[in-house]
Amino acid sequence: MYKISFSLLFVGLLGCTQAQPPSDIERIVTTLAADDMEGREAGTPGAKKAADFIAEEFRKAGLSYFDNLSTFQQPFQLIENKVTIEALQINDQPSQYKEIFIVANTPTIKVDRLEAVRTLRISAQDNFSQRFNTFKDTTGQWVVLVDPVHHATFKKYRTFFQRTQTSLGDSSTSRALVFLLEKAPIKTLQVTATNTLKKRNLQNVVGLLEGKSKPKDFIIFSAHYDHIGIQSQAVNGDRIANGADDDASGTTAVIALAKHYAQTKENECTLVFVAFTAEEIGGYGSQYFAQQVNPEKVITMLNFEMIGKLATFGQKSAFLTGFSMSNLGELLQKNLEGHDFQLHPDPYPNQNLFYRSDNATLARLGVPAHTLSTAPIDEDPYYHTVDDEVNTLDITNMTTVIEAIPIAIKSIVKGQEAPTRLPSE
Ligand SMILES: [Zn+2]
Repeated sequence: MYKISFSLLFVGLLGCTQAQPPSDIERIVTTLAADDMEGREAGTPGAKKAADFIAEEFRKAGLSYFDNLSTFQQPFQLIENKVTIEALQINDQPSQYKEIFIVANTPTIKVDRLEAVRTLRISAQDNFSQRFNTFKDTTGQWVVLVDPVHHATFKKYRTFFQRTQTSLGDSSTSRALVFLLEKAPIKTLQVTATNTLKKRNLQNVVGLLEGKSKPKDFIIFSAHYDHIGIQSQAVNGDRIANGADDDASGTTAVIALAKHYAQTKENECTLVFVAFTAEEIGGYGSQYFAQQVNPEKVITMLNFEMIGKLATFGQKSAFLTGFSMSNLGELLQKNLEGHDFQLHPDPYPNQNLFYRSDNATLARLGVPAHTLSTAPIDEDPYYHTVDDEVNTLDITNMTTVIEAIPIAIKSIVKGQEAPTRLPSE
């Protein structure tokens, strides 16, 4: 799959002791995890530098642009907002702020007269969260009067919405929902609040190899390239969380697979290679991506998370999260029969890994989307620390993991079979 370069062969034949040049896999993972990427925190210059590097690798591989993009970078905005209530009067009396919370994307929120705003209700017989969810696409300014039987739930929501809220940017519609606990009938109301809004410009990196006979059937290979950035506390003088395993290793797999398939052209289905951003802060990159693709077109998604360490099963092995949720794992295992590589079900079911990475967004939409990993997550001392560095990785083993993928997924890439779908939520 990966050709031995002539220079390497030559060195081998001469029995020379000269150090071997780094493999492409070693070069890519080392570049992504280098200090000058500053831990690749979403929205920082370090992450942009990583995105530019990945895009250049996609260009060198010969991938095409995804969808209607004119670049490998898929930009989107993340909005952070925090509402501060300045004043509240109910029935002409100053009122306690514990009776109110506001969900808004407008810079200011002002209610002078209750008659002038539209009202909604969460009544005593309503299921609070179900009713709340029906407001999620509501636009404009509303007051939502909440029956006091819901006071305990109201308090939980208030605590949540007092914090900074992060959401995918959609500045085309403005909304301000003022939730009030209606302890006594509310006749008059004055509310003044301000909203601090911060916008972050982020980018996924996406490239595509069109399928020969089934171009409308998508297979996604993905990983997140963002990590947790520069830490406030130095450890032995180091503040950069390089994220070599998490998830420069998985991103390296995506790039290496793009190069492999661009060379072999063995794909009958269309292959989409995605490096997601903002996984570490809530999976926003994959959420945005999922909005740009019809999930019914996606045959499967194989996401890579932390493949740089030896799995608990030993060398030449990996595990798949949510193994029994579709038959993707069984299909991969079947294709690996007779080969020197083993795929296992996730050995850490209590860690909830299936829902802790970017596969989960598309999985919720019915796509058999799973994460492949080797992480000894229960005992990895470097996880989310400044010591997640390239020198802790087993690049030889990581290479065997990456090289096993085209074998394992061959029948699906060739369009001969497809994994069972998940129930969509
Ligand atoms: Zn990760």
